[in-house]
Amino acid sequence: MFNTQEHADLRNTVARFVDQEINPFVDEWEAAKIFPAHELFKKLGNLGLLGISKPEAFGGMGLDYSFAIAFAEELGRVHCGGIPMAIGVQTDMATPALARFGSDELRREFLAPAIAGDMVASIGVSEPGAGSDVAGLKTTARKDGGDYVINGSKMWITNGMQSDWICLLANTSEGSPHKNKSLIIVPMNTRGVQRARKIEKIGMWSSDTAQIFFDDVRVPQRYLVGQEGAGFTMQMQQFQEERMFGAAMGLKGLDNVVQATIEYTRERKAFGASLLDNQVIHFRLAELQTEIEALRALVYRTAGLYTDNPDSPEVVKLASMCKLKVGRLAREVTDSCLQYWGGMGYSWESPVSRYFRDYRLTSIGGGADEVMLGIICKLMGTLPGKRGA
Ligand SMILES: Cc1cc2nc3c(=O)[nH]c(=O)nc-3n(C[C@H](O)[C@H](O)[C@H](O)COP(=O)(O)OP(=O)(O)OC[C@H]3O[C@@H](n4cnc5c(N)ncnc54)[C@H](O)[C@@H]3O)c2cc1C
Repeated sequence: MFNTQEHADLRNTVARFVDQEINPFVDEWEAAKIFPAHELFKKLGNLGLLGISKPEAFGGMGLDYSFAIAFAEELGRVHCGGIPMAIGVQTDMATPALARFGSDELRREFLAPAIAGDMVASIGVSEPGAGSDVAGLKTTARKDGGDYVINGSKMWITNGMQSDWICLLANTSEGSPHKNKSLIIVPMNTRGVQRARKIEKIGMWSSDTAQIFFDDVRVPQRYLVGQEGAGFTMQMQQFQEERMFGAAMGLKGLDNVVQATIEYTRERKAFGASLLDNQVIHFRLAELQTEIEALRALVYRTAGLYTDNPDSPEVVKLASMCKLKVGRLAREVTDSCLQYWGGMGYSWESPVSRYFRDYRLTSIGGGADEVMLGIICKLMGTLPGKRGA
C-alpha cells in the first residue's frame, strides 16, 4: 500500500522540492532562527503538498493517509529537523480536526487557505502550567453575545511568530476536564492576541517557537470546530496523525545520520585502518539501521490501520508506540553516531551534531515518552486503577 507508482511519484516530487527549495537555504534559516513560512508554504501549496489527505472540496488531494506518510518520510531529507516539523504542524497537527469536524464555512475560511499555502497555521494546546497534562490547561473561552471571549496563554507554539491562525484548545465550561474543552480557530491578528516572545531552544533553530497571550480576545462562536465540549476528544484524535507523521518524518533523517556516519568513518583513519573497519562500529551501525527499519514497518502498519479505521483504539496504541519508539531511537542513533565522529561530532558544523540537538525534542514534544507509555499501558490493561477507590 505504501509502494505504488503513485507513492513513488509523490516521493519524487517532494524529494525534488526539498533538494531545490529547502536544503540550499537550511543553513541560512538555521542561523536566522526562523524560516520564511509564508514564502515556503505558498510554494508547497502550489504543488498541492499541504493537503495530501485533505478533502478535495477545500483544495486537498483527497488521498488516503499512506500518501501523507510518504510525504512525511521524504521531508526527512531536509538537512535539519525544524523545517519538517513546521510543515508537519501545518499539514498534520493544526488541521486534522478542522478538516474532519469543521463546518464548511470554517473550512472555506481557514482550511482552504492553509492547504493553498496562503495562511500559516499553528496548534495551541500546551500552556506554561500544562503540557503533558492536557486536561489541566487553564485558558478559557467564555460565551458573550455571539462571541467567545478568550483569556489565557499558550506556550511552545511552533510557527507561532508567523502563523495567521491558531487552533486553540480552551475550557468553554466548568466541569469534567475531558468534557469542558473546545477547539476554536483564532485569527492571530485579532485584538488581544500577543506574540510575547520567540523562545530560544537547543535545537530546531529554523522553526520559530512562541509564547502567546490572549487577553479578552473576541472571536465569533462560529469559529468553534465541531461540537462544544468535544475539544479534548478531538485533540486526542488529532494527536494520532501528529504522532504517526512525526515518526515517519524521523525515518529518513535517521537513515541519513547512519549513512553520513558510514561515509565519515570509512574515510577517517585511525591506527592504520578506517574507523568503519572496527567491528564495534560497523556492527553498531547495522544494529541501528535494523531498528530504523523496524520502526518503518511499525509506522506503515499503523498508518495502514488508520486508513481503514481512524477511530480504532488499536491505532491509538500503535501510534503511541510509533511516537515512543522514534523518540527513543532518535536519541540512540544520534548519540551513537555522534560518538563515532569524535571531536568533529562535538562541533557545531557537523551534520550529526545538528540532528543530535534537533531530534532530542522527539522524546518530549507532542507527548513525552512517559505519556506514550501511559497510553500504551492503559490500552494493554496494565495501568493500575485508582487506589482506594
Ligand atoms: C520545540 C517545541 C515545539 C513545540 N510545539 C508545540 C506546539 O506547536 N503546540 C503545542 O501545543 N505544544 C507544543 N510543544 C509542547 C510540547 O508538546 C510539550 O513540551 C510536551 O507535551 C511536554 O509538556 P511540558 O513541556 O509541559 O512538560 P511537563 O508536562 O512539565 O513534563 C516534564 C517531563 O515530565 C515527565 N512526565 C510527564 N508526565 C509524566 C508521567 N505521567 N509519568 C512520568 N513522567 C512524566 C516527562 O519526562 C516530561 O518530559 C512544543 C514543545 C517544544 C519544546
